[in-house]
Amino acid sequence: MTIKILGNGGFYNEGLPYNAMAIDGHVLVETPPDILQSLMQHRMSPTQMDTVFISHIHGDHCFGFPFFFFNWLYWGEADSHSRRGSRLVVIGPQGLAGHLRELMHLAIPPEHQYLRDFDQQVQIVEIDEDDVVPVKGNLWFGFRRTAHSLPTFSLIAGERGQGAALPSSSEYLQKALFIYSSDTSMFEGVRVLLGSGAKLILCDTNGEKENGVHMSPQELLAAAAAQGLSCADGERLRGIHMSRKMERVGELRFVQPGEEFNVG
Ligand SMILES: [Zn+2]
Repeated sequence: MTIKILGNGGFYNEGLPYNAMAIDGHVLVETPPDILQSLMQHRMSPTQMDTVFISHIHGDHCFGFPFFFFNWLYWGEADSHSRRGSRLVVIGPQGLAGHLRELMHLAIPPEHQYLRDFDQQVQIVEIDEDDVVPVKGNLWFGFRRTAHSLPTFSLIAGERGQGAALPSSSEYLQKALFIYSSDTSMFEGVRVLLGSGAKLILCDTNGEKENGVHMSPQELLAAAAAQGLSCADGERLRGIHMSRKMERVGELRFVQPGEEFNVG
């Protein structure tokens, strides 16, 4: 599994591209306001995505959806997803379908064909904690609730062999390859993620100081140390969703746009 970092900034940030990433070149994780710019910056096209995960409906995670979807739909003229009638799967929390529809109606006049295409070509999968769903390319995604002001899910991702069954809700954390914590303050659930089998865990570190909304690097380092984990090698645990450009705090390194990780 390959994870490409497209942006690493949080809601409050001093000019970083917003938090987003691509998995195996066809799954987009988050659709922040600048998602088209981030994709272009890294020579990716919206059209190569078949699946989107949106962790929660704060604007820095979904306000780019109408622009992403418009370009996903119409790029390529005769070969566009619109002409081909392709399906886009969008995975996220309960209420996501209504929220995205509302965003689309704010973005464009109500008579535009694009709104009908949204209803016909987007398949929304609303998830809950410990659901495990199949994703194209022999991937699976599982979900854990975070401690945030809106219903928010961490993404737990793994691979399955051709024809293999999905992991059960009791085993998916151990079979995970990649985890993205999404927005969360420090709570027991973060320790569960740190105790998983994942090879790469990206954690929200928007709170430079402990602020009860986002984890701080220090809180994350302390939680990792309490689990007996070391991030000295900088490989397994990284910070993302930051407030300003930083390379590291202590042993915790932050991911940077353009960085690519191969796990599994
Ligand atoms: Zn948020």
